[in-house]
Amino acid sequence: MFDIIIIGAGPAGLTAAIYARRAAKSVLVLEATAYGGQIINTPDIENYPVAAHISGFDFATKVYEQAKALGAEIVFEKAVEIEDHGTEKAVITAKNRYIGKALILATGSENRKLGLEKEDSLVGRGVSYCATCDGAFYRGKKVAVVGGGNTALEDALYLADLAESVTLIHRRDSFRGEEGTVARLKEKPNIHFMYNSNVTKLLAEKRLTAIEVTDRNGAVTELAVDGLFIAVGRIPENQNFAALIRLDEAGYIQAGENCHTNLPGIFTAGDNRTKEVRQLVTATADGAVAATEAVKYIAALS
Ligand code: NAP
Repeated sequence: MFDIIIIGAGPAGLTAAIYARRAAKSVLVLEATAYGGQIINTPDIENYPVAAHISGFDFATKVYEQAKALGAEIVFEKAVEIEDHGTEKAVITAKNRYIGKALILATGSENRKLGLEKEDSLVGRGVSYCATCDGAFYRGKKVAVVGGGNTALEDALYLADLAESVTLIHRRDSFRGEEGTVARLKEKPNIHFMYNSNVTKLLAEKRLTAIEVTDRNGAVTELAVDGLFIAVGRIPENQNFAALIRLDEAGYIQAGENCHTNLPGIFTAGDNRTKEVRQLVTATADGAVAATEAVKYIAALS
């Protein structure tokens, strides 16, 4: 029996582990893949207090080591189901069934796909969802980035220093991401913009060779590219909790700033909950809040 089981070892989950351990609670963190969550794809964090200019991977590694040093047990198993038995909550993985007094769901989100034919089969052969992971393969080549949020803007900026040219394709005429980043993109001579346009087809032989782009008037352009980086947002990873936990229409856990879900003793933190601002700083803040609320909940049990 753990005091608190945290599902997800991204910034929200690991911060929750730090707070829970500092409150002397026993903590299990379950992670399906690798620690760090989405932030490990960010080459250079510039908007987190004090930690200006640190890579997302280094940031995540420091938080992971901090949580471990404080005594959090971190196990790499995917939580496939949760059960609520009142004062006991169970988390089921392929290998084990773990019991805790309180749960924190901090599973973040996964890449949204464009839904194009061949999109899946071309991953690793011209299609990528992670510029920092795969950008180096496109040194001196022609690439395109699709999306208009901060991820797409930062991907385009990062790739501009590696690739011969970067075409940034966005379905509207203005970006959702930060204006400061847009201004920096416009200073790069090798970045080209295609507004009001969607990628409508992937052309490939063994690898991606070109993409078809259709503008809002229906005009189609074929663009020869070696790589396409898709950055069109994220989908919350809450499917395994949907039977118990109230989600909104988009699949986010319905929770306010106190990180309470609809069930007592089950809390949420980070990008998988309903919120206005999804940033590293709000994810870590959620981790602190959720852990503090879980500690209060456990205290009230005795
Ligand atoms: P996002 O902000 O949700 O942006 C997704 C973009 O993809 C939007 O521009 C959207 O267009 C476009 N899009 C969605 N579906 C599409 C489709 N089927 N076809 C074409 N375009 C599509 O996602 P994100 O950029 O991944 O960012 C997620 C969150 O993380 C945001 O809150 C972001 O601010 C944050 N983030 C922060 C940083 C940072 O602070 N350094 C870095 C990365 C991400 P519309 O604009 O038309 O909806």
